[in-house]
Amino acid sequence: TNFHELGLSKQIVATVSALGYETPTPIQAQAIPTLLQGRDMIGLAQTGTGKTAAFGLPIIEMLLKDEKRPANRTTRVLILAPTRELVNQISDNLRGFIKKLPLKINQVVGGASINKQQLQLERGTDILVATPGRLLDLIARNAISLGHVTHLVLDEADQMLDLGFIHDLKKISRMVPAKRQTLLFSATMPKAIADLAGNFLTDPVKVQV
Ligand code: AMP
Repeated sequence: TNFHELGLSKQIVATVSALGYETPTPIQAQAIPTLLQGRDMIGLAQTGTGKTAAFGLPIIEMLLKDEKRPANRTTRVLILAPTRELVNQISDNLRGFIKKLPLKINQVVGGASINKQQLQLERGTDILVATPGRLLDLIARNAISLGHVTHLVLDEADQMLDLGFIHDLKKISRMVPAKRQTLLFSATMPKAIADLAGNFLTDPVKVQV
């Protein structure tokens, strides 16, 4: 299969070809068609499998097609990850996909200037990649609203639980609209992750690579 056969538009396929992606990885082949249908998904996959594109490409496609997009640039995609390194890696990867598209990405992480991040956010964002703690700090400052989120991604969920983010995640889950598409990626599937998935996801498709 190629990226076009997975249901992605010409514009997105051209972008991935320009980046040198020729063949979808196994997780991309499984996840992209399912996500384009709007289903929730649990992905058992490690970093290095191409999972960022597996969720990023269909989400970008859906953002471009969304006719109900709010007039002002407000967060529609929220991606949560455990560490600053991972947040940076995800946002760098996604930036490559949206270079020629009318979309904006912001990243917010702990350990960096919160004022700078707040200023960046004031210019608007479509896709927000964040560590949970800093996200909540910025919400407390009214710098971010999650009321228009249509896609929520929990990346490396097992590591987020290991780092003690469960309460933050629960708080955040109460701030996003109930009607949304939710994706959870984890390298392992202990009971705590299954419980988290039970709370956050609706009738998820399971994908394992
Ligand atoms: P990830 O697992 O998302 O961290 O991706 C690992 C690396 O593989 C990243 O550097 C991607 O740019 C690259 N990559 C992802 N999908 C493909 C693909 N279909 N073909 C070639 N490289 C890819």
